[in-house]
Amino acid sequence: MAARVKKVMRPPPRIADWHSAVALLMGFWVTFRHLMVNLFGFSRGRQDFTVYYPEQRFLHAPALRGMPVLVQMEDGRERCVACGLCEWACPTSCITIFPAETDDQVERYPRVFDIDVSRCMFCGLCEEACPEEAIVMSRQVEIAAYSRAGTLWHKDDLLVPVAKLKTRIDYLRANYGR
Ligand code: SF4
Ligand code: SF4
Repeated sequence: MAARVKKVMRPPPRIADWHSAVALLMGFWVTFRHLMVNLFGFSRGRQDFTVYYPEQRFLHAPALRGMPVLVQMEDGRERCVACGLCEWACPTSCITIFPAETDDQVERYPRVFDIDVSRCMFCGLCEEACPEEAIVMSRQVEIAAYSRAGTLWHKDDLLVPVAKLKTRIDYLRANYGR
């Protein structure tokens, strides 16, 4: 069967007009204005646009979602029962779980629980899908790595004791006094 060819009619390429010139000049003006504000502001001790990381930190928005982490219970075990729902819900397939049976043969636990944070888009669907509240979106955003392997977080890296989990309410109380 002959391949069907669909002809796409594209608009002719735009020639630079006065709209483009105005947009260009406005862009230059914004850059120039920031340059002046920073230059003269800095000489007077003001630092409007520069954050001296890591000594200074941004105050993140209360609704920020950092990387997903696993809840570790008081007895040291993970709360996760390896049902696989988060793995199924994850749109980027960055969660890998290998389940195993616990000694009491009642529930399972994740023998392997990996998250490839280089593919995670912090959507929070894993948290939504979890029936055990075992995976939660933390406020951790410092997750850079020097290698591809460093972006693969294993279960031991992901486990956070339940007492140390910072919720959105904790953050609001600490930073906004609510
Ligand atoms: S936050 Fe979204 S992309 Fe990241 S692990 Fe959870 S479901 Fe996947
Ligand atoms: S949905 Fe929750 S309980 Fe199920 S595998 Fe994921 S983290 Fe574990």
